[in-house]
Amino acid sequence: MTAAIAIIGGGFSGALLAIRLAHAAPERVVHLIERRRRAGVGLAYGACEPHHLLNVPTSRMKVGLEPGFTDWLHARTGFRPPEGIAPADAFAPRALFGAYMEERLAETHSVRRIRGDAVRIARAERQVLLADGRAVDADIVVLATGNRAPPPLRFAHDSANAAPDPWSHDAFDDLHADAPVLFVGVGLTMVDIALSLAARGHRGEMIALSRHGLLPTRHEAGGSWPAFLSTVDATSVRGAMALVRREIAKAVAAGVPWRRVIDAARPEVARVWRAWPQSERARFLRHARIYWDVHRHRMAPQIADALDALLASGQLRVVAGRLAGSDADGVRVRLRGGGEEILRVARVFNCTGPASDFSSTEEPLYADLKRNGLVRTDALMLGIETEESALVDASGAVSDWLFALGPLTRPAYWEVTAVPEIRAQVDALSQRLLQHAPLPATDLADVFGDLGAGI
Ligand SMILES: Cc1cc2nc3c(=O)[nH]c(=O)nc-3n(C[C@H](O)[C@H](O)[C@H](O)COP(=O)(O)OP(=O)(O)OC[C@H]3O[C@@H](n4cnc5c(N)ncnc54)[C@H](O)[C@@H]3O)c2cc1C
Repeated sequence: MTAAIAIIGGGFSGALLAIRLAHAAPERVVHLIERRRRAGVGLAYGACEPHHLLNVPTSRMKVGLEPGFTDWLHARTGFRPPEGIAPADAFAPRALFGAYMEERLAETHSVRRIRGDAVRIARAERQVLLADGRAVDADIVVLATGNRAPPPLRFAHDSANAAPDPWSHDAFDDLHADAPVLFVGVGLTMVDIALSLAARGHRGEMIALSRHGLLPTRHEAGGSWPAFLSTVDATSVRGAMALVRREIAKAVAAGVPWRRVIDAARPEVARVWRAWPQSERARFLRHARIYWDVHRHRMAPQIADALDALLASGQLRVVAGRLAGSDADGVRVRLRGGGEEILRVARVFNCTGPASDFSSTEEPLYADLKRNGLVRTDALMLGIETEESALVDASGAVSDWLFALGPLTRPAYWEVTAVPEIRAQVDALSQRLLQHAPLPATDLADVFGDLGAGI
């Protein structure tokens, strides 16, 4: 009998793996366990509204399924790109990519979908246990639990005023349209939430706070740039950043948008990250991450226009500083340039992004995995430790039955959060699971590197 596979988490990563396995081996038992009603969409493509667009053109959302996303968009939805933009270059609503994945999953009949909350893995019984007491047979388990709620903000704020998870369905409840609000975090989550408020007719001031006050940058099409980053030249963060800056200067001088330099660097990031010692990775997170993030995670032009309009009207204000606390007067902010400001706001949205630290998690599944020594959290608090998607346990041994996908595996690759990388990871893992191969033939970081501009 072939081994049954249970995938915990039915977002993009888990759904794509389930579909891949089912297409290649329909006779295999593949359980897809998802706590939410909808599978295939996850946070990125499920908890969004029509004005939330993909942050890459549709052509970058290829996942190796038929029909392709761009063709499906054209044939099955009313989506039409703006005048003069080719469908492959357009930025479609994220919800449509969710609907696309949901449809692909629904037509893959051999995947056994289970709605439930996985809370324990009972290895001796070869079962995944769900919160309601059900048990799912599994010889192989894949963790695809993805993006978690943001880490709690480190200050006591009146809980009635706080939106600790800006994606939760009640985040906007009882908020008066004229009330001022605070976003803590200035990345793409903040952009989504600001646009959601604007779409609801919010008129109150929106203040966006982050340590540096740097907003995400906008996409710009055109041009190309050759690969230039390598593990040989980028042995330190300082060296890597200098190299990127130098290439950007050359590109701009040649009339090529700097975005192409970042795009050219991206396939190499996992290799460079793997080659760095822990101290260098920590240095990157401390000093360079913010600059990488704002240039790497970009906004669709329409989204950037909408944000610019909010800034130009004065409704949205960006403040560089740190939360210092809160009291009856409001939220106290220590400003980057010196001094303090007290913000009187009706709601504080935690837009700091998904939590990645598992070291003190109370989530039952991970608390149980840790209790049993099956999982090792990384020192940089980016996720869980894996070796070619296989979990590394507390003793450092690499599992042959427990695997992980997507943002959870960030400690190994850094860049493994977007569709192209996750797709490559899913492909490698599905081949390995189907061939019962003890180890993959190629390092996943090399696979990312070989994808070049396809990433
Ligand atoms: C807001 C946002 C926008 C993005 N936009 C883009 C984009 O435009 N292009 C791009 O390439 N990438 C984008 N990304 C990145 C990327 O596509 C996602 O991070 C990716 O979808 C991750 O998928 P996932 O399945 O690993 O995680 P998730 O989507 O978070 O899915 C995990 C699933 O696991 C379930 N789950 C968790 N724990 C349990 C449990 N114990 N039992 C049962 N179920 C459980 C959750 O309910 C959830 O459905 C975006 C990310 C975010 C957050």
